[in-house]
Amino acid sequence: MSDHDHASPETKVVHAGAARYEHLPVVPPIYQVSTFAFKNAAHGAALFAGDKPGYIYSRMGNPTVEALETAMAELEGGYRGLACGSGMAAIHTTLVTLLQSGDHIICSEAVYGPTCTLVETYLPRFGIEQTIVDTSSLDEVEAAFKPNTRVVFIETPGNPTLAIADMEAICKMAHERGALVVVDNTFMSPICQQPMKWGVDVVVHSLTKFLNGHADVVGGVIVPKEQKHYTQMRKALNHLGGVLPPFEAFLVHRGLKTLALRMERHHENAMKVAQWLESRSEVEWVRYPMLKSHPQYELACKQMSCGGGIVSFELKGGLEAGRGMMDSVKLCTLAVSLGGVETLIQHPASMTHASMGREARVRAKITDGLVRVSVGIENVDEIIADLEQALQKATAHIPKPQPKLQKSGT
Ligand SMILES: *Cc1c(COP(=O)(O)O)cnc(C)c1O
Repeated sequence: MSDHDHASPETKVVHAGAARYEHLPVVPPIYQVSTFAFKNAAHGAALFAGDKPGYIYSRMGNPTVEALETAMAELEGGYRGLACGSGMAAIHTTLVTLLQSGDHIICSEAVYGPTCTLVETYLPRFGIEQTIVDTSSLDEVEAAFKPNTRVVFIETPGNPTLAIADMEAICKMAHERGALVVVDNTFMSPICQQPMKWGVDVVVHSLTKFLNGHADVVGGVIVPKEQKHYTQMRKALNHLGGVLPPFEAFLVHRGLKTLALRMERHHENAMKVAQWLESRSEVEWVRYPMLKSHPQYELACKQMSCGGGIVSFELKGGLEAGRGMMDSVKLCTLAVSLGGVETLIQHPASMTHASMGREARVRAKITDGLVRVSVGIENVDEIIADLEQALQKATAHIPKPQPKLQKSGT
């Protein structure tokens, strides 16, 4: 019996079914709510003062979201997690919290496109200086430090070149100079790489990719190592507002349960695809961190426990061959994003990085024939067979230089 049994329909439609659940669910249920009731005025006051744990309003904290945040902090070895509405919201919130006018940031050149735009276009508007470097070169990183450098932002392996940054060496350099190191660990997930082991201060992720793994959520997360940074970031996230909704948090948490299994298969399949690509005459070069031919293979083995699912390669025949391959795949899906169970393929020069302009692309080592494959968990022989037929079609389209024909007659 509820208090509202004798209430009017107008009241009932508002209050019916508002039961308090006494049973203990095995997985975090979805608290699809915006706000939480206080028991009384004193309870509300205690929650606002931070004297009692509890929930006030879902932008400030939500049990379903917090369950995911706790899981991510455990996986990365950080203090606590902060779930954000997208990977970009996580990166933006992190940088805005750690930097202020007059500061300087060093950023990897091979980063996710919008991260580059944030650092090069938006941060300078607020008086934050930047230097973009190839963070796979320790000399370049060292030369970029200034007295006001506060943050070094790294993506390793880089996107889409898979260049690897030495996290231990960069953390040492940065910490000696009073700067923090932030790593975007999206390509690896905490299964393949745990940046905090090497001294990294803050890890960010796009949850959209491997962590969720099922191409049905956009989300991000920040995991700081220190409580101090967590507290600053929690305030900033609340004030800036880029939080993750509870339903998305539930889905990502569900996806997370199979992360280790999925990463194992992604790695196994990607390695086979990379080795197969290396054997092809249509391919100029192949990048995969666990290939012996990777320029930083030894560093990869040191700081990564698996190679992940992303393989990049350079097609002979440049832009046209790249486009041709995109139009010829059947099993592989032509789409941006990565890290889902399905194999996705894309051609950065004509797609994700087209807006950068050729000059910036060349600087970021994104060549015209560069193709990126996010190798899924399907049967690997079938993935390879699809790539093979697409490769043949794409390179058949390239006009070969013909010897001039002799005209006969008049
Ligand atoms: C996708 C991605 C992002 C951005 O994440 P969104 O969830 O799309 O905002 C950031 N970094 C890397 C490495 C990514 O792949």
